[in-house]
Amino acid sequence: MESLLEGYRKFRETYWVQHREVFEALAAAGQNPRIMVVACVDSRVDPQMIFDARPGDLLVVRNVANLIPPYGPNTDYHGTSAALEFAVNILKVDHILVLGHAQCGGVRALLQAPHNHAGDFIGSWMSIASAARAQALASASGDPDKAQRICEHETIGVSIANLMTFPWIKERVVAGSLKLHAWYFDIESGELEILDTAL
Ligand SMILES: [Zn+2]
Repeated sequence: MESLLEGYRKFRETYWVQHREVFEALAAAGQNPRIMVVACVDSRVDPQMIFDARPGDLLVVRNVANLIPPYGPNTDYHGTSAALEFAVNILKVDHILVLGHAQCGGVRALLQAPHNHAGDFIGSWMSIASAARAQALASASGDPDKAQRICEHETIGVSIANLMTFPWIKERVVAGSLKLHAWYFDIESGELEILDTAL
């Protein structure tokens, strides 16, 4: 944990000083991010770092495999859906970006199911993308690396499709005041794939 405190000291002496006015303006006026990013919890895929974003630029929600569950209000605890509601209905963001990535452990667990131990929550959570799994296994000709890559891409498509099951998202997308984007980050090469046109 000492490395975190050392990192904080460095942040406070350099980055914070350089962006002091931005922080102060955001504290006084509140946040007004125009872009929401749904990314994976993976420690190698940090949207703020990848997009060189400033404080206040991005509203980020991260979960296992950057999944959007289908719209389904009930008494369960819907962390991602609550973040969407906040971003779309309160902050009124203009864009939602689903950022998928290579080597996703959540997708790997999905592909290995039911032969792996998916724990108390991961298996159930990843079942959101079961259609992506079926598509990947059908297209990969038994090649596990290919299945992984296809499933990562298909999972982004599932998330985009599920975004449209939220009535207040669909309404704004149809009206043209909210745009959905699907991008894919390759950790090893650093390349970013823009998939929007394929939607
Ligand atoms: Zn991941």
